[in-house]
Amino acid sequence: PPAIGVLALQGDVREHVAALDTCGARGVLVRREREVEAVDGLVIPGGESTTIDKLLGIFELRDPIRAAIRAGLPVYGSCAGMILLADRLEGGVEGQQTLGGLDVTVRRNAFGRQVDSFETDLEVAGLPDGDLPVHAVFIRAPWVEEVGPGVQVLATVGSGPAAGRIVAVRERDVLATSFHPEISGDLRLHRMFVQIVADRG
Ligand code: GLN
Repeated sequence: PPAIGVLALQGDVREHVAALDTCGARGVLVRREREVEAVDGLVIPGGESTTIDKLLGIFELRDPIRAAIRAGLPVYGSCAGMILLADRLEGGVEGQQTLGGLDVTVRRNAFGRQVDSFETDLEVAGLPDGDLPVHAVFIRAPWVEEVGPGVQVLATVGSGPAAGRIVAVRERDVLATSFHPEISGDLRLHRMFVQIVADRG
């Protein structure tokens, strides 16, 4: 099975490893440059993007991961991971950097106080088994403000105050969601990512 790394600096690392294992990949922890080089794909978990950003600097992983993404390593980011994959960030803290790789503008903590955390059903394009909606959990989540021409929008919020907001995108082999499939039990997005990695074989 493909070895898929989970960036293990901060955030819900275990949940992603478990999800990847369930989907037929081998989830492995990534904390060092040589571990980045050894994996077939990489997940950047949910957590706190400002903390993960600082730790990327301390662990000297920023440049190796940027280089790997540029060279075509498939990457999936959920929530804080989406923030870290954005080429452009709104609402970051002073000095906050991203890894980039996705030609999008992401707004951090976009949903605001009233809907700090919420759950909703989403239609997600391109899932392995069809049209059943995905039950999505959002926790102080970002949304995508603007997408470049090569970016496919996979899901938008269907109703409520954030209706129409973009919450799942894909550009080549880079996938990102505002929500956390790793904690909702619906692992079709992880299956999609494992398939992306397997297809590169
Ligand atoms: N608000 C967090 C951040 O800015 C993301 C929240 C999450 O990953 N659940 O990184």
